[in-house]
Amino acid sequence: MSAEIICVGTELLLGDILNTNAQFLAQQLASLGIPHYYQSTVGDNLERLQQVIEIASKRASILIFTGGLGPTPDDLTTEAIANFFNTPLVERPEIIADIAQKFASIGRKMTPNNRKQALLPEGAEVLPNPSGTAPGMIWQPRPGLTILTFPGVPSELKRMWQETAVPFLKSQGWGKEIIYSRMMRFRGIGESALAEKVAPLLDLTNPTVAPYASLGEVRLRVSTKASSQADAIASIEPVAQQIRDIAGLDYYGSDDDTLASVVGRLLREVGETVSVAESCTGGGLGAMLTTVAGSSDYFVGGVIAYDNRVKISLLGVNREDLEQFGAVSHPVAKQMAAGVQKQLGTNWGLSITGIAGPGGGTQTKPVGLVYIGIAAPDGTAQSVEYRLGAMRDRESVRSIAAANALDLL
Ligand code: ATP
Ligand code: MG
Repeated sequence: MSAEIICVGTELLLGDILNTNAQFLAQQLASLGIPHYYQSTVGDNLERLQQVIEIASKRASILIFTGGLGPTPDDLTTEAIANFFNTPLVERPEIIADIAQKFASIGRKMTPNNRKQALLPEGAEVLPNPSGTAPGMIWQPRPGLTILTFPGVPSELKRMWQETAVPFLKSQGWGKEIIYSRMMRFRGIGESALAEKVAPLLDLTNPTVAPYASLGEVRLRVSTKASSQADAIASIEPVAQQIRDIAGLDYYGSDDDTLASVVGRLLREVGETVSVAESCTGGGLGAMLTTVAGSSDYFVGGVIAYDNRVKISLLGVNREDLEQFGAVSHPVAKQMAAGVQKQLGTNWGLSITGIAGPGGGTQTKPVGLVYIGIAAPDGTAQSVEYRLGAMRDRESVRSIAAANALDLL
């Protein structure tokens, strides 16, 4: 028994819209414990739709469609399903009445092409759409196969899913077991290095541990199947604890935690404040810090010191050091951090100066060279050099530099 998600719409294939319906449904299936091995995306084309139905109906027992239920000729989902199972389409008076009433409520007359939305295969049950005109359906075209259809509009899909599909699936016995996972987040360690450190845990079968990498961070997903969230947490927590012990400071948070939220929590706990002085990130570090609601408790502000004149006049960076070592250097990073700390009267000062590229690099100072300065409450300032690499583009260098500054803090 497994489900397959089938998303219909040529705009998905053209890349005009992101397939968020597939993501939503996948998460929902996981939370109900419904196995799900395939997703298909197909354009608004009758023949190809039927080919997808043929394949999916052989390998899955629940087919979940989104899109293609509208009134226009390119909306073909219901027709394709009915054709494939050789079942006639029947007009449902209750759907016509519902659509007519919805049009009347906004002072408009129902157009003739809306009648198309009232056609469902004989024997199918209407899945009402409280927020739109296109209803879906629940249909068993043959024993052991269930078909659910939803409109493409994400808000309509979500509401119908929660209000009608979930109760239906639960009545079929699903949702007794949930799949629960925790995403553990790491920085300062590569995917392969982390995978090696936790190697024995990657072989576990319950919970399972799987590594993922993305820009500047590595994650481990710890998942389990259980009958309740409490049982799931009880199964996951000992493994998560082992991982935290192994990873030490490379671990920074889980699930919805971000570097900015974790840094904010730590600063708030000790009642300390931070300010920033940014050159190559042009405010990116301040932007990251202020993504967190309530960040004004600990984030005071910053200086975008792009030009050397600003580094000198607002941050008090020494002109001779700038000339001797260059703007992208340890001494300048330290002085920027100490300067903003002093100017804004914060416990901590953080600074970033670097070469984001693509131009501007030299043999000794290549693109991706970044210095991050940190001025501590005890009056000392340090800086750390990062070589973020010539392969990275400007935006990656800038966002990793800002994240590294938070990590350092
Ligand atoms: P309608 O009655 O509104 O025409 P429909 O069932 O025919 O509904 P589509 O025409 O396929 O749905 O899609 C309507 C809109 O919903 C699309 O323009 C798109 O913005 C959004 N949409 C469709 N499919 C998806 C998807 N898989 N993920 C996210 N958004 C989607
Ligand atoms: Mg449509």
